[in-house]
Amino acid sequence: MAKYTDAKCRQCRREGCKLYLKGDRCFTEKCSQDKHPFPPGQHGHARKKVSEYAIQLREKQKTKRAYGLLEKQFRGYFTRAEMQKGVTGTNLLILLERRLDNVIYRLGFANSRNQARQLVRHGIFTLNGKGVNIPSLQVRVGDTIEVPEAKRTIPVLAQAQEVIARRGCPAWLEADGSAFKGVVKALPERSDIQFQVNEQLIVELYSK
Ligand code: SF4
Repeated sequence: MAKYTDAKCRQCRREGCKLYLKGDRCFTEKCSQDKHPFPPGQHGHARKKVSEYAIQLREKQKTKRAYGLLEKQFRGYFTRAEMQKGVTGTNLLILLERRLDNVIYRLGFANSRNQARQLVRHGIFTLNGKGVNIPSLQVRVGDTIEVPEAKRTIPVLAQAQEVIARRGCPAWLEADGSAFKGVVKALPERSDIQFQVNEQLIVELYSK
């Protein structure tokens, strides 16, 4: 399967904002975007004339990278968002936020969305009592995500309580680190998106 190979911190610096791709490091003073808040490379400091297209493109790339998606997958989400009622840009962000790998990351069972995706692929979680290994699955209100007892000894999961306490859990989810369980209490809202994004620019880019 194709995947991004660019260094993660480099992706944040390219987009000019924190995308939280490296787990706990993103919340410490070691964050490269905080230390070097300018684009990577020899000409990172150079002032460039930025076209309208470039601004729209960067906004799309930023969102795609934050959720670890490739162009085809991202475009698929946009098409679904367009077909739904309501504001396309908001629909797009909510569809992305409802991905199972994102929910597991937001619940604090993984350090990053990338790690959450790996854990899901390895069949570590159950969804409503049934084994699941599809990271792109869309969660619904009332869904319960759990780690079966036999799989709770995995080191990354052992830190779950600590991560939840430190990072907090968004209002639309409920996490119980000691029971290795999370519940989807409501659908996410626009204000629940973790990073700064102007989704209207993505809509404009794809509408050209
Ligand atoms: Fe690196 Fe995380 Fe900071 Fe991004 S937010 S630059 S991935 S440490």
